Amino acid sequence: VAHPPEPPARRVIAHLDIDAFYASVELLRRPELRGLPLVVAGSGPRAVVTTASYEARRYGIDSAMPAARARVLCPDAVFLPPDFTVYREHSRRVWELVRGSVDVLQQVGIDEGYIDLSGVEGPLRVLRALVADVREATGLVVSVGVGPSRLVAKTVSAAYKPEAFVAMSREQACERFAGAPVRILQGVGPKTAERLAAMGIATVGDLQGRPEAELVPAFGARMARELRGRAHFHDASPVETVRVAKSRSNETTFPRDVADHAELEATLERLAADLCAGTRAKGVRARNVAIKVRLDDWTTVTRARTLDHFTADTATVTAVALELFRAYAPARPVRLLGVRLAAFADAAPEAASGSGDEGEARGRNDPGQLALPL
Ligand SMILES: [Mg+2]
Repeated sequence: VAHPPEPPARRVIAHLDIDAFYASVELLRRPELRGLPLVVAGSGPRAVVTTASYEARRYGIDSAMPAARARVLCPDAVFLPPDFTVYREHSRRVWELVRGSVDVLQQVGIDEGYIDLSGVEGPLRVLRALVADVREATGLVVSVGVGPSRLVAKTVSAAYKPEAFVAMSREQACERFAGAPVRILQGVGPKTAERLAAMGIATVGDLQGRPEAELVPAFGARMARELRGRAHFHDASPVETVRVAKSRSNETTFPRDVADHAELEATLERLAADLCAGTRAKGVRARNVAIKVRLDDWTTVTRARTLDHFTADTATVTAVALELFRAYAPARPVRLLGVRLAAFADAAPEAASGSGDEGEARGRNDPGQLALPL
């Protein structure tokens, strides 16, 4: 006798995002600055705004904007350099509290995470209590978006922050965000948005209304399906509690574009040395070495080589990185340079090199240890 299929379990996923995180931490230390426009930004000609307080945002200042532009928009704003040690400490306290009250947490950044509350009784009540606890214990405000998927949850918290607390079904999200630009959909970057715009698709609603077949010539079958799915807020991706480190990398953006190959090679050596030191400290070794080069016209190239053994040895990795760099020999000035290690072994050195086993380093999700994806 065939049983009818089980109805799919109803998922309840929340996206938590600490409001104006760096700026909020600075205000906790310097309450006298409360109410003033506050910008946390590095120095140097290419520094960008890492966080702006909501007072500063009223002047049109936003994250990732060049700091120089922010100074023009609001010369009276208080500019502070970022203090990541202190931010990490506050972040750790917030996520420890969250972990204390929910089972499934996937932290995705220093100030962001997803939690899965499927099957939890009264999930919104649990979330309300959690937000209140965090506020009470740390003074930080967490915005919350809730939905049946990560996509809905994240879109909702982003749309309603600060102090957001909004839940939506997939259908409600389709309606609510129909008029929003396609860029609000995670996974739709500037290039995709540009190509969609060329087809007369500017909003999520435009994309919802366009038959998949019409997207295929420009994007291919897989991407066309993905885009249509996202426009309808379909997303089955799970909240993963353990992050699998697939690669570790180290990269730098130059304050000005560099054409001199000797200078670029020196930078590459420094990046490789730091990366190897960090990798050895983690007790892991890799056998795939890659470089990343971004040119002044934003062309980005990666070149990789897989070795026949696992290593975290500075001399070995540097030699491979330099070889890859010399083979590519960028013909234009370079804006950004990076080195990456991938294909890790976390077994004991003898076992790893002996078996050729390509294990992967696994670690708890720690914002201080996030590998920068190349
Ligand atoms: Mg935030």
